[in-house]
Amino acid sequence: MTTTADTKTDDVTAAVTAWLEQNWDPDLTAAEWWDRLGRSGWATPTWPVEWYGRGLSRAEGVRVQQAIAAFGALGAPGGLGTLLAGPTITVHGTDEQRERYLLDIVTGRIAWCQLFSEPGAGSDLAGLNTRAELDGDEWIVNGQKVWTSGGHWADLGMLLARTDPDVPKHQGITYFALDMHQPGVEIRPLRELTGRSMFNEVFLTDVRVPGDAAIGGINNGWAVANTTLMFERSGLGAGGGGGGVSALPGTVGGDLERRAGDFVRTRDPSDAGSQLSTSVESLAALAHANGAIDQPNVRQDLARLYSMNEIARYTNLRQRALARSGGEIAGLGNIAKLSMSRILRLSRDLSAQILGPYSTLHAYGAGEQDTLVAATAGRAKPGITESILFAQAPQIYGGTDEIQHNILGERVLGLPKEPSADKGKPFRELPKNG
Ligand SMILES: Cc1cc2nc3c(=O)[nH]c(=O)nc-3n(C[C@H](O)[C@H](O)[C@H](O)COP(=O)(O)OP(=O)(O)OC[C@H]3O[C@@H](n4cnc5c(N)ncnc54)[C@H](O)[C@@H]3O)c2cc1C
Repeated sequence: MTTTADTKTDDVTAAVTAWLEQNWDPDLTAAEWWDRLGRSGWATPTWPVEWYGRGLSRAEGVRVQQAIAAFGALGAPGGLGTLLAGPTITVHGTDEQRERYLLDIVTGRIAWCQLFSEPGAGSDLAGLNTRAELDGDEWIVNGQKVWTSGGHWADLGMLLARTDPDVPKHQGITYFALDMHQPGVEIRPLRELTGRSMFNEVFLTDVRVPGDAAIGGINNGWAVANTTLMFERSGLGAGGGGGGVSALPGTVGGDLERRAGDFVRTRDPSDAGSQLSTSVESLAALAHANGAIDQPNVRQDLARLYSMNEIARYTNLRQRALARSGGEIAGLGNIAKLSMSRILRLSRDLSAQILGPYSTLHAYGAGEQDTLVAATAGRAKPGITESILFAQAPQIYGGTDEIQHNILGERVLGLPKEPSADKGKPFRELPKNG
């Protein structure tokens, strides 16, 4: 297949804006708009030109997202399909699998979730217990996953399962595309600190995966999973998949048949508290508005936050310049993820300083939030307190900060590996939790 991508221009913003002028129509359904955007290569511009992308760098991809948002069009489908599954299949899938899965991802028709973590396997992901056993030309899967973001509206899951327990733990894992709409898949939402239910427990009982849904070869899942994790870390470090304004991809969320223009809202920059935005600009505006700017600590932390954002931006530019000459910054994905989680923690602490005692007041749900805002004469800011509560998550997901440090130490700095009693032993013989 080919896309309509025909140019690679340095002036990415001008190119995507010109395309939007010709193509954006708020009266299309989200499905119709995403079909147009996905086939054009502007939904996933960092993907290869031959697979619905434009071969652009990550920094250029961010500029495309910003240009779409600035134009006032509905952004590309977000979620784990465009962020993780698609890029991984582009690298490890067969051409037949790329044909089968990628178009549905870039056009938002199908949503994906990531079935990696288990109650006994998070940082030690290779210790996973979910097993897949061959039955004719299908695999039968049994086990439990946890922390499955978006599992309740996913059509397909990136599943890691053990296909050979008689070899060391990293060598007996396979990466599958699992149909989430089948008997035996039970999804139980978990309620988070923020009051939302973003992630789930997923119980798999005798669920079936066709043999041709194994991505990257049988027992080669660890290498494929590492590709997904690499995309996750660098994607999250760059600010995540979506362009801010978006609809839910996939058949379950119910957004595909809604009018695309209805997802695009005009933002009121003076209303910093109503957005989940803790950008330096909106926090500075808030501090000016409520007088917190007079506190030296607030001014210093604003400057620190600005500097950290600028360092991340310059690192991206440096990587871009290096990439042109075939070089790279070793461990950049891990560094970007660590930097993002530090930025969000500083934003959390700074937001709390600026809001003062009002940062301890939070309400769940739109109605209760309106009541709280009215009762505090607008001093409570539910959008900001939600990001204060959420700031604990980024240092855990995609591999914790400690694990990023371990990877940088071992793989980039060449420090000795952590001692491991597992080395070389078949998975079946390893001690298990529970
Ligand atoms: C918001 C959110 C969304 C998520 N979404 C998904 C998802 O969609 N799909 C999915 O599969 N998973 C998801 N996760 C799970 C996430 O990947 C795991 O939580 C993470 O890998 C940590 O695993 P764990 O929770 O089992 O903690 P553990 O591995 O039990 O770690 C507990 C603590 O011990 C530390 N630790 C563990 N091992 C080491 C070590 N070797 N060296 C130093 N410190 C160590 C950790 O850093 C951590 O502080 C999500 C998590 C969050 C918070």
